Amino acid sequence: MDYFPLFLKLKDQPCLVVGAGEIASRKIELLAKAGARITVVALDIGTSVAEMGRDNRLVIQEKAFAADDVNGMRVVISATDRRTINEAVAQAATSQNIPVNVVDNPDLCSFIFPAIVDRSPLIVAVSSGGVSPVLARLLRSKVESAIPAAFGLLAQFAEDFRALVKDRLKEPNRRRVFWEDALQGHIAELVFSGHREQAATELQAKLDAAEQTQHRGEVYLIGAGPGDPDLLTFRALRLMQQADVIVYDRLVSQEILEMARRDAEKIYVGKQRSNHSLPQESINELLANLALSGKRVARLKGGDPFIFGRGGEEIETLMQQGIQFQVVPGITAAAGCASYAGIPLTHRDHAQSCTFVTGHLKDGNINLNWSQLAAPNQTIVIYMGLVGLETICQSLIEHGCPAEQPIALIQQGTTRHQRVITGTLGDMPKRVENADIKPPTLIIVGTVVRLRKQLEWFQPNPN
Ligand code: SAH
Repeated sequence: MDYFPLFLKLKDQPCLVVGAGEIASRKIELLAKAGARITVVALDIGTSVAEMGRDNRLVIQEKAFAADDVNGMRVVISATDRRTINEAVAQAATSQNIPVNVVDNPDLCSFIFPAIVDRSPLIVAVSSGGVSPVLARLLRSKVESAIPAAFGLLAQFAEDFRALVKDRLKEPNRRRVFWEDALQGHIAELVFSGHREQAATELQAKLDAAEQTQHRGEVYLIGAGPGDPDLLTFRALRLMQQADVIVYDRLVSQEILEMARRDAEKIYVGKQRSNHSLPQESINELLANLALSGKRVARLKGGDPFIFGRGGEEIETLMQQGIQFQVVPGITAAAGCASYAGIPLTHRDHAQSCTFVTGHLKDGNINLNWSQLAAPNQTIVIYMGLVGLETICQSLIEHGCPAEQPIALIQQGTTRHQRVITGTLGDMPKRVENADIKPPTLIIVGTVVRLRKQLEWFQPNPN
């Protein structure tokens, strides 16, 4: 982060603008909106600034800039087209530690202006850190169109009731839930459509109800998909952003975690460096206890929670304790990796069925119905199969699969680190030996793998 974002209180504070052309006038407008006491120093006064001066909204000094003009100022803005003046202003301000902005001269600035969406008292500020103002403005226009014009009214409404709600709902967590609900639902609509009185009545009723009911937490068992954050569902994102606690493991990427609510507590339950993960029973218990203490818990799982995810076990415990939960499906590794590797899992000429199996070794063995899996015209997707790869290839061949049967190994599928290695049942174990494969990896066996030659489209970029 090159610039620290903050909102500055300038009401009745002395601010200096050097220059009085069109650009200066826009900055003056903005300062005036924030209630600043503005002094303008310039030799030529443009028409807009002159007009503002007539309304007594600012003090205009028609003179050359002098270093002591910055004395006592809170903020200084230089908007002249003369480099020497701009430099003098920047230097004078900097020497007194006064924040200074020189329009269109990032190197002379100690602060920069964001692009803003003004729904006062609600303000959205967007900045590209000076790297691309156009990009910031594009984003601003997206935000602009996403926020109803009456959003300011809603913020005002919330402000009016803030103290009351705080007084009646003592626990911060309960207040947050209350407001999240009130500001998104029917009450917000009433405010938007100008029915403030009715909104106030409904808010009171809602507050009475909230006060009387005992607050209980809940658990969202969320499929976070195979890695690419774009593959999250809308519901997953929404729930991640309202949860108080995020419980996640190894398969959930950093990029996805960053999309969760910023101040949510994040608890890692995956494998530690010592290679021990929290036992499943402890995870089940953790989720239940968090919910019982009133928290909204997002349990993030890679892929889909109900596909080799032990999601069923986690909610069984919640069920037993009468804790509310919901399950959000995710894109499972098979679907994600197959798509991003350009390998259709079914195809009229190749495979009429597709089977998902686990290749997890138990006492050195993989307990699968090999003769069924070795039959033609199907695709097999093997989760957790890297360690047992050799056993898998051998067993399939022993049960009648040709040694030339195509097989693909997809590492970190759908992410920018994705790697795909293709080969045959006969040669894959050898290929993998020196390939420095990293988990997670998924295995696809079947003639559909050949289609990758024509259908490969995703170009991962590890940088
Ligand atoms: N519930 C998950 C699967 C968990 S089992 C899902 O629906 O996808 C863990 C296994 O999933 C890993 O061993 C690996 O085989 C597979 N896997 C998960 N994400 C993957 C990814 N991005 N790339 C390759 N394999 C992945």
